[in-house]
This record gives sequence, structure tokens and C-alpha cells, in this order.
Amino acid sequence: MLRQSQDLTRPRVFGETWRCSGNGTVKATTVKKAGTRKTGTAGAGQKAAGRKAAGKKPAAKKPAAPPRESRADRIQRTDRLIGQLAETYGDAECALHHESAFQLLAATILSAQCTDERVNMVTPELFRRWPDAFALAEASQEDVEEVVQSTGFFRAKATNLRGMAAMLVEQHNGELPRTLEELVALPGVGRKTANVVLGTAFGIPSGVVVDTHVKRITRLLGLTASTTPEKIEQDLMALLPETEWINFSHRLIHHGRKICIARRPKCLDCPLLKDCRRVGLPPLADAEDC
Ligand code: SF4
Repeated sequence: MLRQSQDLTRPRVFGETWRCSGNGTVKATTVKKAGTRKTGTAGAGQKAAGRKAAGKKPAAKKPAAPPRESRADRIQRTDRLIGQLAETYGDAECALHHESAFQLLAATILSAQCTDERVNMVTPELFRRWPDAFALAEASQEDVEEVVQSTGFFRAKATNLRGMAAMLVEQHNGELPRTLEELVALPGVGRKTANVVLGTAFGIPSGVVVDTHVKRITRLLGLTASTTPEKIEQDLMALLPETEWINFSHRLIHHGRKICIARRPKCLDCPLLKDCRRVGLPPLADAEDC
């Protein structure tokens, strides 16, 4: 607000209003331009025009929730999915290269937040220099960090690898224990890593490995609605026969790399389509990605 002399002869500036105060002076005030003020409730037409002007697409239609399914039906559907996965990926194996249970454990520790391909590029040198727990327990932190650097979080991973090897030497004579409880007590070893090692190296089904592919695809398939790996594992253990716990994960991981790719699932090429509920995806006719 600015105080103005009583020059009522000057032309009024655009957007300016003059008000008389009690003492006879004239105050000139400038009001905001109409376009900068909030106008309250805009009509649908105005909103659409606004969106159009801003180049925004209208919000996508929400996918319809899949119909309810009885537990018996879900178990039958799961059996068909198991059969189809076995037919398609019968020879699927663990994607991490290894020649012993110890090497598989080391490679799995390295695979946290890293692709299997990257881990497979690093492990030949790691295992050449430190092929077993005794050798790795003697390695320096600096040397191990240098070798595993490209897998990310390399300081923590090097610390865990050396700690794991040292504990194996001290408590298990350099061998891997064969129980979940003993494995998860090792540095850097969680439930997923222990399940991988027990299932793949020893053929012991201790649980279902839930990695990022298994988590995503089992939710798309409608086998679980849980969001945490622990809960998803429980849901899958209740659905799958114990004999399938190991293979089911291996095969889904391959499926996630080849067909059910994260941002572009190839549903029309998918052997599981008939029994997949495609939870959260748009109907196939509308889907651009499938
Ligand atoms: S049908 Fe589509 S969403 Fe379902 S598993 Fe196959 S690719 Fe994935």
C-alpha cells in the first residue's frame, strides 16, 4: 500500500484503486491481477482445459480388483503354475556361478543390491585369490574391498565376507553349517541368503527364496498380497509343496528376466497367462506394454 498525494488529476494505473481516508488523503492501492488469484471451485470444463493447456494426460483407469478366489482354487491354480514353470524352465539353476557351498555363500552376500551378472564378473578373481574360508579369513580388508568394489556397498560387503570366513574357521572348521539358525548367525547372512545356500548347495528346503523377481511376480500372479519378503515367504510356504520351494524361486527368477520383465511384462508371450491374475495390470486389450 502506498500513500499518494492528492493529485487526483494523474491517470489511474491499471489494477490500482483509490480510496479516500478520513483525513482527506487519497490512498492508492494495487490489487493482484485476476489471473494470480485462486478462484475457488473450477468447473470440470475449466479443469479439463487447464489439464489440456498443461499438456497432462487424464488419470489412467484403475485396474479392476480380481474376483475372489477360494483357497482350494488357489492351490489348484498354483499346481498348474508349478507344472508350467517346470515345463518352461526345467533346467533353471542358480544364476550365481560357484563351485562350492562356500563360494555360493560368498557370491550371494555380494549379490545384495547388485545384479547376478555383475557378481559373476567379480567372483572369478575373488575365488582365485581366496578360494575357501581359510584363505578369505586371512585376506586384508583393503584387498577384498578392491576386488568387490564394483558390486556396490563394497566396504560393508568386504567386512561381511571376511567376518563370515573368520567365523566359519573359528566355529565350523571352515565348513558351512547346514541349519538356518547357524547360517543367519554369520555376518552378512540373512534369511534369503541362508535359504539360497541350503536349498541350492545342500538341497535342504528351509524356505522359499524371495528376491525382487519372486516378490513382484508372485504378487502379479495373485499368489500373495503381502508386501514384505518375510510375509510373502510365509504365504508361499503355505501354498507350495515343500519339494517345490527351491525350484519355484529359481524358475520364477528366470521368468522375471525373460518374460515377466519389471516394466514391460510380455503377457501375450507368457506361458503362465492362463493362470495369472495380472494383479494391478491394465486389461490386456488396453495394455500398451503387453
Ligand atoms: S501373464 Fe504377464 S504378469 Fe502374468 S506372469 Fe506372465 S508376463 Fe507376468
